[in-house]
Amino acid sequence: MLHEILEKLRLPLIGEAKSGFANVGFIGGLDAHILSQTRRALDFMQLGEVPRAHEFSLQRLHDMWMRYAEADTQSRAKIVEDSQKILAVISAEAPTQPPPEGEELCPTSSDVSEIPLSNPSPSRGGWVGANVGTNVGAIETKAQTIKPKTQIAFRPDLSTELTYLKGIGPKRAELLQKLGLKTVYDLLYYFPARYEDRRVVKPLESVEIGAKEAVMVTVLYPPSTRVMGGRMSGRKVTKVRVGDDSGRADLQWWNQPYREKQFQPGMQLFVYGKIGEFNGLIQMDSPEFEILGENDQLQVGRIVPVYPMTEGLHQGPIRRAIYGALEMCGGNLEEMLPHWILQQNGFPSLENALRQIHFPDSWEAQKAARERLVFEELFLLQVALAQKKIAAHTEEIGLRHEVDDEKIKAFVRALPFKLTGAQKRVMNEIRKDLKSPRPMNRLLHGDVGSGKTIVAAYALWTAHMTGHQGALLAPTEILAEQHFSTLTRLFKPMGIEVALLEGSIKSKNKRRIQADLSEGRVSIIVGTHALIQEGIEFNKLGICVIDEQHRFGVMQRAALQHKGIEGLRPDVLVMTATPIPRTMALTIYGDLDVSVLDELPPGRQPIKTVKIKPNQRDRAYKFVLDEIKGGRQAYVVCPLVEESEKLAHLQAATALAERLRHEELKDLRVGLVHGQMNVIERDEQMELFRAGMHDVLVSTTVIEVGVDVPNSTVMLIEDAERFGLSQLHQLRGRVGRGVHKSYCVLLGDPRTDEGKARLGVMTKTQNGFEIAEHDLQLRGPGEFYGTRQSGLPDFRLANIISDVEIIQQAREAAFALVQANPHLQGEEHDALKRALRRFWGEKLSLIQVS
Ligand code: ADP
Ligand code: MG
Repeated sequence: MLHEILEKLRLPLIGEAKSGFANVGFIGGLDAHILSQTRRALDFMQLGEVPRAHEFSLQRLHDMWMRYAEADTQSRAKIVEDSQKILAVISAEAPTQPPPEGEELCPTSSDVSEIPLSNPSPSRGGWVGANVGTNVGAIETKAQTIKPKTQIAFRPDLSTELTYLKGIGPKRAELLQKLGLKTVYDLLYYFPARYEDRRVVKPLESVEIGAKEAVMVTVLYPPSTRVMGGRMSGRKVTKVRVGDDSGRADLQWWNQPYREKQFQPGMQLFVYGKIGEFNGLIQMDSPEFEILGENDQLQVGRIVPVYPMTEGLHQGPIRRAIYGALEMCGGNLEEMLPHWILQQNGFPSLENALRQIHFPDSWEAQKAARERLVFEELFLLQVALAQKKIAAHTEEIGLRHEVDDEKIKAFVRALPFKLTGAQKRVMNEIRKDLKSPRPMNRLLHGDVGSGKTIVAAYALWTAHMTGHQGALLAPTEILAEQHFSTLTRLFKPMGIEVALLEGSIKSKNKRRIQADLSEGRVSIIVGTHALIQEGIEFNKLGICVIDEQHRFGVMQRAALQHKGIEGLRPDVLVMTATPIPRTMALTIYGDLDVSVLDELPPGRQPIKTVKIKPNQRDRAYKFVLDEIKGGRQAYVVCPLVEESEKLAHLQAATALAERLRHEELKDLRVGLVHGQMNVIERDEQMELFRAGMHDVLVSTTVIEVGVDVPNSTVMLIEDAERFGLSQLHQLRGRVGRGVHKSYCVLLGDPRTDEGKARLGVMTKTQNGFEIAEHDLQLRGPGEFYGTRQSGLPDFRLANIISDVEIIQQAREAAFALVQANPHLQGEEHDALKRALRRFWGEKLSLIQVS
């Protein structure tokens, strides 16, 4: 309330100074306005809505303005100046939100001892929060006896639908709904995309042509509209001549004749817009403006929010809707962050933060508000993740898979190579998880070629050894097939059968495999999405390994987990080839334990990477030819399968293979795989390449993940600028797997800065973590890994790249809270629980049921 009144006083005072202290801008003069506002403030003080502490200042202000009309210009100047000082003092002392209890609970208050301990009701915000809720009734009764006019019949809160707000009719509500804004929460959490600093109001004589400026002017003549001839024929222009002490200007609008009725001479305006010039006169085209005294000054003379725009809705109405909602909800926005978190971090209350993020008093206030709201968002994310993770760690609903040391040693001895240190470490981490009665929920990440497959094999083998079934889920058929053949090679000698299930398998075979699975005759199965479909039942699913996690969402992971033995959850190991930046590991994968393979098997060659312009293509293929003559093999990758109208300039795999066979790589054996081939054909091609019967494999990105042919030493990528960074990195990871020196050739002609940057990064580093960081920077968090697929709510404010520190803080606070109180019991957490439901929506139950 106080905030609102201060706001109504602040700007008119600036205006008054600019007008030469003419006592204008309001019907009956500025003094009438100021007197009525200060009286209002004093009235609200009687109701307990404005702190008593300001009584003296307000009374002084009132007395000063009683003399204003009679005073001469010099004295008026003094009164205005003193008033501004008084207001500054009040603003500095006042929390921008008004609840009376807020004042009493403020540590600086003299009667701290009177905190109503008998009714702590922290759910309504124990500290600076919105505890007015407790008092609404009291205020109403007082209001009725003292001043019926201020009766508060209805106070919206975050859950109120926008249509119930004063000033938002059905039409505006519909427009807001287009932005996805239905409730007060949606509206207040619709944050500015940026701000414009319009605090400096300039005299017309010193505005800069071409710049955006704020001016404070008086309307000089009635507006006029005329119809243009010539080039502009038929268009109507409405002009309003305005001026200040230092000069004159025209404001003009095109085809908006209703503007004529908006202005009368003598009216004072705050105007903001681009400064133009016509015939020596300053001209502002369709500026934003405020009529002094008519509206709260939201658009000029302050830091003004600029919202992400949509059709049909202008900035003005959104600003007013948000401002209005803040006013109406004043004191009724419940604080969901625990008291100790606010205190520890020095965060403003929710209400304060929301005010300051939309209508900042200063950049410092905006920054503090943003920090709190970013924290809040990440905290709500982390609390649910913490609940999930902690439940998984404490509830004994998993299986014990225990295999004795001797057998494990024998398994390791049977491997065709010596394990790296990282592989041993990770296997031990997994072994601990598997032994425990709690379900494993582990993410394994390691760069391409770091040897994840063998770790997966180890987990699957454990399932078999303990009498359970193990499933390996792969994102593509090619990868599933490859895993199948790797595992068969490994397990067959041990007498363990492996089965393969994919969508394209003949239904007769499928039925057989299905029966084997459900009757327990198969202990290890590899498959694609087909594995998680309806109708696939396991006999005793104990362990699932999911390869290339980022292609599976949280939902799919959950579906597989529910195929476990009645009431028991299988252990889950999620593997991803693209390393995950730290912030992602803390958020999107925040419920998982993490293992890292940070060591490559010995003898890996660095891969030489070069960028080549399309006009040097011949040279590139000549190089491929030389390598093949030396006994090596090569991949050629291109982005599309068929020529399509739109992308006709791209090399289609089919056409390319055909051409290479006849031209660049004449006499060589050129194989081809693409996504539209059937499995048998594709298998045949892959096998031929693996066996060295093809020299070159032309392919679309189906070979992106997992293919392992150590004799190939060249990865040539056509139209390389069309690929994302992580894709390029994955593709490059297909070579450099054997003892021979390997190469990655990026053919392409990037036209965008981002495309250039991607290829640049590729030639500079081979470190997957660095590449992932760059990728995140270039693409932004939304695109990276398809955050959307992750099933997590979108961030409105937090920036997963730059808010690392806050992510860490929020995570620590959330885990501390949940550790102490996993189910957030107690009234003091009611507001937090409501906020969690708001933030997560329907996904909350999924994430909480781990
Ligand atoms: P990725 O982590 O990319 O899935 P793979 O599991 O496919 O890596 O392993 C890449 C290659 O390295 C395979 O040929 C695999 O047999 C081999 N490999 C894995 N671990 C080792 C090791 N410890 N020593 C030598 N070669 C290894
Ligand atoms: Mg792999």
